[in-house]
Amino acid sequence: MGRFKVIIQDDEFGEVMVRRSALARGVKFSVDTSGRLAMSVPAHTSEFLARRFLKSNRDVIREKLPVRDPSEQRARDYQKKILMKKAREYLPYRLEYYAKLYGYSYSRCRLTHANTRWGSCSSNRTISLNIGLMKVPEVLRDYVILHELAHLNHMDHSKAFWAEVGEHDPRYKAHEKKLKMFSPGV
Ligand SMILES: [Zn+2]
Repeated sequence: MGRFKVIIQDDEFGEVMVRRSALARGVKFSVDTSGRLAMSVPAHTSEFLARRFLKSNRDVIREKLPVRDPSEQRARDYQKKILMKKAREYLPYRLEYYAKLYGYSYSRCRLTHANTRWGSCSSNRTISLNIGLMKVPEVLRDYVILHELAHLNHMDHSKAFWAEVGEHDPRYKAHEKKLKMFSPGV
């Protein structure tokens, strides 16, 4: 983990915010106001180790998490399922289409349902796209795809990165702004 704060994705708990702190002497779990699990760990804890802590503390964590209304939970699960189905039939193909069009090569497309990010691009060239993209206008969806594709060449938000995004989506600034009106959470 190169950064002070990092979000890891867990199959059971969803997004987990990992905060590294020089003051932390052990691992502490908490739940933030949005219901997201947070975990504070000593500085220099690797992401691998953080995941291990998570795995070995599942029972403790389950007790900390708020109990959800079962009917609300069912409705959400259902909505998520529908979105996932739509996303599966659309996003990988749309990504492939733009990659081919502009000559990018990525290793694979992963669909996520993280609550805070629309997409990401990892150093092993995996592009992750949030299934919540199926809820936003197509032009914004395309913007996210073009944004992540540009990260294949620039793993930062440098001027060169934005110039590349702008080449493929001249209205990217407006799209970035508009996207903030939507939440990626399902
Ligand atoms: Zn980015």
